[in-house]
Amino acid sequence: MYVAQALKLSKSVAEKLEERNILKEAIIKHPFFRDVIEAVRFDKKFGEFEEGTVIAKTINGVEIVRGYPKIRRALTLYPTIKKYFKKRVVFEEKMNGYNVRIVHFGKNLYAITRRGFVCPYTTEKARELLELDFFKDYPKYMLCCEAVGRESPYVPKDVYGVDFEFFVFDIKERASGNPLPIREKERLCNEYGLKLAPILGETDVKNAHEVARDIIKKLDEKGREGVVIKDPEMRNKPIKYTTSKANCDDLKYAFRYFSEYGKDFMFSRIIREAFQSFEFDESDEELKSRSLRLGESILKAIVESIRDVSEKRKIVEVVRLKFSDLDVLNLFLEHLKRSGVYFEVRDMKKEEGRILVEINRIMKSTTDKIKDHLKGGLW
Ligand code: ATP
Ligand code: MG
Repeated sequence: MYVAQALKLSKSVAEKLEERNILKEAIIKHPFFRDVIEAVRFDKKFGEFEEGTVIAKTINGVEIVRGYPKIRRALTLYPTIKKYFKKRVVFEEKMNGYNVRIVHFGKNLYAITRRGFVCPYTTEKARELLELDFFKDYPKYMLCCEAVGRESPYVPKDVYGVDFEFFVFDIKERASGNPLPIREKERLCNEYGLKLAPILGETDVKNAHEVARDIIKKLDEKGREGVVIKDPEMRNKPIKYTTSKANCDDLKYAFRYFSEYGKDFMFSRIIREAFQSFEFDESDEELKSRSLRLGESILKAIVESIRDVSEKRKIVEVVRLKFSDLDVLNLFLEHLKRSGVYFEVRDMKKEEGRILVEINRIMKSTTDKIKDHLKGGLW
């Protein structure tokens, strides 16, 4: 089969791949995706191949797009940075949206989400917002971007003041996943007019934890998520570290929809707050206000959900999206269905030639669980 061939897998490894049922459909067949004949994604990590790796049979041959690897998290700035980096480190803003790999297949751009789905909505945006000239000059590269903004189907956020944008944080070789050094990435983004996730500073490893702490405090005040700490040459794996604001926002979200989220997700965010409080040498006063903030994030969110269900409302997250093409909208709804999302379209209208759609993402598990408890069901 074309996958085993493209990846040069031995017969026994190819059989294991098949046996473990790791390959899933990555794309819906449709003229909007006309450059792709078929494509599969890795639903789990397999050997060196990350979850989300895509193998596409395109009109120009078979293409490999490596998945975006996991970024490990620091709980302490000191001594973690010292332990993992050598001489110098770069701090980049960790933007809070969703991970997209943008690639060029045949004659068009394709936007792949973290798990390896070609997303119709994101692909339409990529084709509208980005020029082809970067890919004409560098056809074998992919742009690893954070897609952020209010009109995000997966992580809608107002903090960036945009409806929808791509911010490039890595440029990588598609088939190997090898990244360009940070200066090179910066140069190419400037040359081709691509927006870059902000590069906040570069410093010696020696005093990096102090610099990081200042950066984190400023980002926290602005309601931003955190930093990704990188080796300037990209030889070491990056590490992430988040603000208290981001941890609390995640907790609010996770507890509002508590039954859709794993316990680990919540627990790890609470532990992070503890390490940050310790490392930032907080006064009793500061610790108290952190505790209050943390507690409120958890309790208020969940009480709100209970109230909603008690008043006969379903627990939903509303997303508002704009499409240029009705076909793409329908394709996107099909994509949501296939990704296992429960949803209902609550409103659709035309505005200046575009289609505005409001979708309720239904948190079925949380709704059902609360309903059950409100009827006397035991935990
Ligand atoms: P992971 O599997 O990497 O832990 P996650 O889904 O838990 O991913 P996050 O906690 O959001 O994700 O952290 C990693 C993600 O941060 C990356 O996958 C990427 O989408 C996003 N990101 C935002 N800004 C940057 C940046 N400047 N450099 C690298 N990644 C960034
Ligand atoms: Mg994220």
